[in-house]
Amino acid sequence: MTIVRWAPSPTGRIHLGNARPALLNWFFARRNGGKYVLRMDDTDLARSTREFADGIEVDLAWLGITPDLLVRQSERTALYDEARDRLIAAGRLYPCYETEDELSRRRARARAMGKPPIYDRAALKLTDEDRAKLEAEGRKPHWRFKLDGRPVQFTDLIKGSQTVNTASMSDPVLVREDGSYLYTLPSVVDDIDLGITHVIRGEDHVSNTGTQIEIFEALGGSVPIFAHHNLLTDAEGQGFSKRLGSQSISDFRDEGYESLAIAIMASITGTSLPIEAYGSLEDIAAKLDFAMISHGAARFDPVELDNLNARILHAMSFAEAAPRLAAYGVDNEAVWNLLRENLRKFADIAEWSKLVTGPVEPVIADEDREFLVAARELLPAEPWSLETWGQWTDALKSASGRKGKRLFLPLRMALTGRHDGPELKSLLPLVGRKACLDRLP
Ligand code: GLU
Repeated sequence: MTIVRWAPSPTGRIHLGNARPALLNWFFARRNGGKYVLRMDDTDLARSTREFADGIEVDLAWLGITPDLLVRQSERTALYDEARDRLIAAGRLYPCYETEDELSRRRARARAMGKPPIYDRAALKLTDEDRAKLEAEGRKPHWRFKLDGRPVQFTDLIKGSQTVNTASMSDPVLVREDGSYLYTLPSVVDDIDLGITHVIRGEDHVSNTGTQIEIFEALGGSVPIFAHHNLLTDAEGQGFSKRLGSQSISDFRDEGYESLAIAIMASITGTSLPIEAYGSLEDIAAKLDFAMISHGAARFDPVELDNLNARILHAMSFAEAAPRLAAYGVDNEAVWNLLRENLRKFADIAEWSKLVTGPVEPVIADEDREFLVAARELLPAEPWSLETWGQWTDALKSASGRKGKRLFLPLRMALTGRHDGPELKSLLPLVGRKACLDRLP
């Protein structure tokens, strides 16, 4: 059974860059009939809040994803403690007492000597006596994982064969001085405990994967299959970041974008699939194969989002729109089918529906007044159909000698108050004779 997880850190609301792994994981689970775990990586108590976590759940639901299971790392500390103790017993986790200052001086020294600034494992040489002395001075240890220091090889579902050489890395700190955990260990412990089969995340985690594979092995867990996707950047090529205050998913929702448009942009950008109005997340899940994810950056284009949003609305069926249309007083399928082509955002329907229900402010140029008075007189009797417009304008053409734009534009300006908009042939029967008379001089 395929089990994936999306593991946001609730230190802010999610942005487009976070939505990408949220969706790619879901597509993968869907394609394989698997399960989707939402894991809140909230071990950083100083920056994580319950409010952000709740907001992320709302955002995920808005995108159209309901997780099969929700877990919070803050509620699973006992598991991490147990893993920590096992690693200590196995000699893979060792206490270190250096301060940040000492470490940065050591790194500077290493650089000056032309050596890589990796941790020198000085703490491994401490005797029990040294440690007792340091602790008597009031120092508390942080704990580092002793890497094997070897080329860690794995086959990435997106990037193919990968090698991370942990010999060129510092032994990572897994436990802070205050006993709290950094992300690295809890993530592995949870992946083992929850039976995660595939870890799908951004390519900024490739080197973590090298470290984490060693931890999986040290804990005797089975190593999941990894897939690292390219990262989404904004139009200027900058990565999205909560700290930089990138536009959040909830901002897009508040601006009236369709959740499907956001989901398509977040997932299809930077793949070989075209950006188009897919009908649903299922539809994308069926089409998007990981082999289609490009190896270069995925650049988000806000203009493309606007166009896509419009295309989704233009293709939206009345059945789909109806529950939302009630708020705008639109309950007629023909009205929706006619007006939807003009929408850029759903809420635009408020303005466009006035063409049918009024009020409309007719625009009448002086030189057209006489022509429009004649138009009023020639307006056919009801019942009206799709033929009415043709009958009316044919009669007007003969009576006035006008044709083309000079014939049609004054009618449009009077009946709708604007020079663009839906086909008048279809609009006319929806407006009805009485309202048309009110708009003509
Ligand atoms: N909380 C991590 C992040 O947001 C999760 C990375 C992972 O998927 O393991 O980057």
